[in-house]
Amino acid sequence: MSFLRSLANRDRVFDFLVPAESPVDVRHGPILYLEDVSVSFDGFKAINDLNLTIDDGELRCIIGPNGAGKTTMMDIITGKTRPDAGKVWFGSRHDLLTMNEPEIASLGIGRKFQKPTVFEALSVFENLELAMAADKRILPTLTARMTPVIRERIEEVLETTGLAELRQRSAGILSHGQKQWLEIGMLLMQRPRLLLVDEPVAGMTEQEMERTAELLTGLAGKQSVVVVEHDMGFVRSIARKVTVLHQGSVLAEGSMDQVSNDPKVVEVYLGADADEEVV
Ligand code: ADP
Ligand code: MG
Repeated sequence: MSFLRSLANRDRVFDFLVPAESPVDVRHGPILYLEDVSVSFDGFKAINDLNLTIDDGELRCIIGPNGAGKTTMMDIITGKTRPDAGKVWFGSRHDLLTMNEPEIASLGIGRKFQKPTVFEALSVFENLELAMAADKRILPTLTARMTPVIRERIEEVLETTGLAELRQRSAGILSHGQKQWLEIGMLLMQRPRLLLVDEPVAGMTEQEMERTAELLTGLAGKQSVVVVEHDMGFVRSIARKVTVLHQGSVLAEGSMDQVSNDPKVVEVYLGADADEEVV
């Protein structure tokens, strides 16, 4: 009875309305750990003995020519594709190979696909609100009573994404870059621990790219971010540590200067399309 009575009190903030902290355990090691991961499609090894670790709070860039396995790697982490061999762990507690896509997402792994998928008819604010309501840990029927908690989170995300002044604008009339930021904001509503972002600056103006660089570098530390990107100028502007993938394995890893001067990397890029040159 007291539970029902407490529900009727709209001023109270209920524990179950606050997004649960991700249960990932990073006390003794990385947030993401891939060991000797392989997957074949019709006999073709798209991922071949891949080893990769991402530290908690790190911003990592993954580059590599078309077909290197970058998207397949993200598919494996998010549970969309099952590898034939290897280990994939989220912190030291969660073996991702025993979990399905929704279970992995609910651990706090958010994925941003290349094409923005915002709700065009809704405002920026409503899109963010909806992203929170989509969280299955929150009871959708209680929407009216969530206001204080949700509103606070929406305000934070509007600030982070630089969309505060556009809060009432329909998502449909935002620029391409603004839509991308809104979608990142929608992922942030659920407080992910690890954000996977596939080619965020494709089709953006220079100015939008700069703003995106600020946004992503600002997220690092608060969450871990893995960015797959073709635009080398952009990678150079945000990169701390860069991993170069080639034929499903790590070809080189290090600072942007280290990898772009690595003869193995230069060779692979010279053999690739002209628009993928390392600069
Ligand atoms: P990248 O994102 O680095 O460009 P992908 O991960 O998309 O590379 O693809 C790696 C290789 O695996 C490519 O040769 C691609 O054709 C192949 N591939 C990816 N997914 C599938 C699939 N579902 N079925 C068959 N081949 C696939
Ligand atoms: Mg890809």
